[in-house]
Amino acid sequence: GTARIGVTGLAVMGRNLARNFARNGLTVAVHNRTASRTRALVDDFGDEGSFVACESAEEFVAALERPRRLMIMVKAGDATDAVIEEFAPLLEEGDIVIDGGNAHFADTRRREKALRERGIHFVGVGVSGGEEGALNGPSIMPGGSAASYEALGPLLERIAARAPDGTPCVTHVGPDGAGHFVKMVHNGIEYADMQLIAEAYHLLRAVAGYSPARIAETFRTWNTGRLDSYLIEITAEVLAHTDAATGEPFVDVVADRAEQKGTGRWTVQTALDLGVPVSGIAEAVFARSLSGHAELRESSRGLPGPGPAALDEEAAARFADRVEQALYASKIVSYTQGFHQVRAGSEEYGWEVDPGAVAAIWRAGCIIRAAFLDRIREAYDTRPGLPSLLTDKLFREEIAAAQDDWREVVATAARQGVPTPGFSAALAYYDALRADRLPAALTQGQRDFFGAHTYRRTDREGAFHTLWAGDRSEVAAD
Ligand code: NDP
Repeated sequence: GTARIGVTGLAVMGRNLARNFARNGLTVAVHNRTASRTRALVDDFGDEGSFVACESAEEFVAALERPRRLMIMVKAGDATDAVIEEFAPLLEEGDIVIDGGNAHFADTRRREKALRERGIHFVGVGVSGGEEGALNGPSIMPGGSAASYEALGPLLERIAARAPDGTPCVTHVGPDGAGHFVKMVHNGIEYADMQLIAEAYHLLRAVAGYSPARIAETFRTWNTGRLDSYLIEITAEVLAHTDAATGEPFVDVVADRAEQKGTGRWTVQTALDLGVPVSGIAEAVFARSLSGHAELRESSRGLPGPGPAALDEEAAARFADRVEQALYASKIVSYTQGFHQVRAGSEEYGWEVDPGAVAAIWRAGCIIRAAFLDRIREAYDTRPGLPSLLTDKLFREEIAAAQDDWREVVATAARQGVPTPGFSAALAYYDALRADRLPAALTQGQRDFFGAHTYRRTDREGAFHTLWAGDRSEVAAD
């Protein structure tokens, strides 16, 4: 075969990735279960580069140069297993099967192990950026063996997004499921970012009394500063949009029930298993879930509580500046939590993920792309063992400068009855981490009281139990 790479599964993502490879000078074999999609791709875009259209699995495998690089872009889940089972018997030792779908990292670990035992490399690749990213340059998060990355990396570098400094947004994240794990956390951070932006909008609307168009303007201004990011940019576009049918702001005619496809939920489920406090991501997932409980919301409407009080123009402008500070500080916290999860996953599975490299490949192509990620990359480059982003000198100073406004915003929201679970959870996380003593000591006392779960002391080694039902004397417990 002569094709450098093959793509099977030619719905929107697979088709666009295949075109991206072809546009970058690589001969691409293309295949799809339903052959009409393969023909349509070549009919519509055949002049963009060199495609080899294949109808059968055998033809597809034969079209690939060795070691074969076969990329699967089908619906995640059972379809991926079905396609792997279809192709694996046709492959030879050293060939590389790449899954670019949104697989759960545990599935990727299972598939990698099974194929490794058959002498075939399996590379789970996180791809972010949606259909436009797939075509023009996504952020790419490959896992799998280092040997497979040697054969695959140079091709991925050709199609990846470019960071502002010109480096391609792809790196070998780590073995087996590391790529899909990091993609999952990316999506969790995306949920948190979106929730924080939504809260900022809500506060500007309800407390500052701004119109959607005015908030769009505010966000455009913010986008020229440290919040410069794709999500802020598109938020301004959405808010500035007017519904053609009614002439109302678009945001006012959309049903306020947020949906989700599940990667945010996976992030939180995994974080619970790893014992990582990703409270910002969890609040974002729960906020979407709450919004969708239409009946519960209907029956709860009118529960007593305050409403927003109108601000004059000057106070509103001052409040808007405060919201920017609160949003930025909360954003630092949610990335801190996300990177903690990356580190925890890396330790649990022995992946040795380089957090600075992860920040670097999120700088372009993906949904959370932002100027801010370059700062995170710098923080890890300066101190590779940084325990928490909050302890980075720059972030520490920025939060110190932002926190009065941040606290004021959270307090105002509480007083005026505007829900800000993201801002509030971020602030609570920050205050908990910086606290000298936490009430966890009391929790330990309660646990020991009702369940003899024992506790440790501040002044001596060992586990202890107090005889709560007896004379309340203390006994050594180990
Ligand atoms: P879909 O998830 O809609 O999947 C459709 C494709 O899967 C078609 O090519 C279909 O073939 C094929 N397929 C489904 N079941 C089978 C099966 N049992 N055997 C063989 N082929 C099958 O396509 P997308 O392009 O939206 O996404 C592809 C992957 O990329 C998914 O895993 C998705 O989660 C992931 N992804 C999507 C993003 C997005 O923005 N859409 C972003 C990042 C990742 P047929 O034409 O014959 O029906």
